[in-house]
Amino acid sequence: MVKLLEGKNIVIMGVANERSIAWGIAKSLHRAGAQLIFTNRQERSYKKLSKLLEKHNIKAKLMVNCDVASDESIQQAFGQIKEEVGVIHGVVHSIAFANREDLKGAFYDTTRDGFLLAHDISAYSLVAVTKAARELMTEGGSIVTQTYLGSERVMRNYNVMGVAKAALEASVRYLAEDVGKEGIRVNAVSSGPIRTLSAKGVSGFNDINSIIEEKAPLRRSVDQDQVGDATLFFLSDLSRGVTGEVLHVDSGYHIIG
Ligand code: NDP
Repeated sequence: MVKLLEGKNIVIMGVANERSIAWGIAKSLHRAGAQLIFTNRQERSYKKLSKLLEKHNIKAKLMVNCDVASDESIQQAFGQIKEEVGVIHGVVHSIAFANREDLKGAFYDTTRDGFLLAHDISAYSLVAVTKAARELMTEGGSIVTQTYLGSERVMRNYNVMGVAKAALEASVRYLAEDVGKEGIRVNAVSSGPIRTLSAKGVSGFNDINSIIEEKAPLRRSVDQDQVGDATLFFLSDLSRGVTGEVLHVDSGYHIIG
């Protein structure tokens, strides 16, 4: 494999376990020669990630705690990265959260608090992270987030998360304009459904997999490794002419009416 990210420092946010999309991404970036810096929220995720890294013989350049619900925590995390690593070239934002009760039933039942929480963690966090990360991207860089088709279409039970993903995708475009002049690109990967811890929280989400296998042009579901390679494209120079984009990695499902 061509080492597309040799000598590049990339921050990966959002590995909870082996099934996490961010773990698929970590493997692709490692194979491409990147130096990986991880952020975790929960101690449990930190422990799972440490074991995974050991099992796969991957050495993290740094692991820091970061709860994107707190500006202070984001400041601290990127402050520590600046101190210990210096320049970074990319950020993978693979984070979302909504209350389980808001991921089923009628969207109009979403509470004000539930709506704000989903938007805070799943959309605003990209804005806050971009602001902190750009300070360290003095050689230019690339920021990639993870979104889902529920932002464009009504997907049953996805509800408030679909609306938060729409805000996330619009944020990608506004941020791309802000930081483009600094040589920083911002893009999103819109993955097909993958069985992860977060996906379990969406009522009936796993059933969508069989619909993809039946209806998508490629007639197969998507996995973390496919998303990993698409994210690698966005982080590498191969995508140097692309920003503000949402790339569907969903076996082509989104083109089907
Ligand atoms: P995971 O549950 O594996 O990952 C979600 C991550 O979000 C966890 O690592 C979790 O950290 C992190 N997180 C949640 N709240 C916070 C917070 N306040 N601060 C910091 N981190 C936080 O699920 P996925 O891999 O599926 O999800 C990753 C991204 O991919 C999400 O944006 C999701 O919406 C998106 N996506 C998923 C699809 C799927 O089918 N699975 C399809 C399309 C997009 P911790 O465990 O430490 O709490």
